Amino acid sequence: MKDKIALAARRTGTLLKRLLPNDCALCGGASDDALCPGCLDQFFGPAAVRSRCPRCANPLPEAAPSLSGGTQRERSEHSGSGLPIVHGLDRQLCGSCLSDPPAFDRTLVAADYDLPVDQLVLQLKFGHRLALAPLCARLLRDAVLSHPDYTLPALLCPVPLGPRRLAERGYNQALEIARPLARSMGVALHPQLVVRVHETAAQSSVAPERRQQNIAGAFAVPDAALVAGRHIGVVDDVMTSGRTLNELAATLKRHGAVQVSNLVFARTPPH
Ligand SMILES: [Zn+2]
Ligand SMILES: [Zn+2]
Repeated sequence: MKDKIALAARRTGTLLKRLLPNDCALCGGASDDALCPGCLDQFFGPAAVRSRCPRCANPLPEAAPSLSGGTQRERSEHSGSGLPIVHGLDRQLCGSCLSDPPAFDRTLVAADYDLPVDQLVLQLKFGHRLALAPLCARLLRDAVLSHPDYTLPALLCPVPLGPRRLAERGYNQALEIARPLARSMGVALHPQLVVRVHETAAQSSVAPERRQQNIAGAFAVPDAALVAGRHIGVVDDVMTSGRTLNELAATLKRHGAVQVSNLVFARTPPH
């Protein structure tokens, strides 16, 4: 395991050098904060905010009114999906969510998982830069609170790691983000709300057509009383295909959750 960490650290050695205290985590420039004002504005400021599908957070085309060719439905406050009221551009669901609605109701993200923002996650995950977790949490909190229509969950939980992966890495990066996020939003956190009941291969290592099978039945809810009738927020560092978060949301709903939101630092843009 130590070899793996050393390798990851060497691969990103240049960036590590930039991550000395008081250096901006993205550009390496002198900064009083974890990100310099320039990077904060460039990668997380108003100009970087994209119009996204409220349900899966995939970017929506800027000009086209809807991916579904005008058959887009507007969800009301009391829709069966539990989707909260949304305003303006946020009314649009992407074609994929219209044709094949996921088990979760809402996804909020701070950024695309793309250069150079992905370096924050890679450093947090593989470079043991745990100090970046509060930064990710702060950026995610700001993104969440920028949606005035959004009602905060009653309880947050991280996407759990299996025991083997947890032992290898030593920490769950989703939990490291969830802790300061929960604190700063005043929402309770329950790290063991959902557990992995069997070890799965990393989704990134599995062929796309086998990913659903890989993750099916992976999660369990030890105490359903914590979930029943509540809005649960699921925290993760990165959302790619969304299958893991979908399986988790389906598990929570089977245990009575009325609404499930994904609060994810970065979203992999579609190819
Ligand atoms: Zn910077
Ligand atoms: Zn969508």
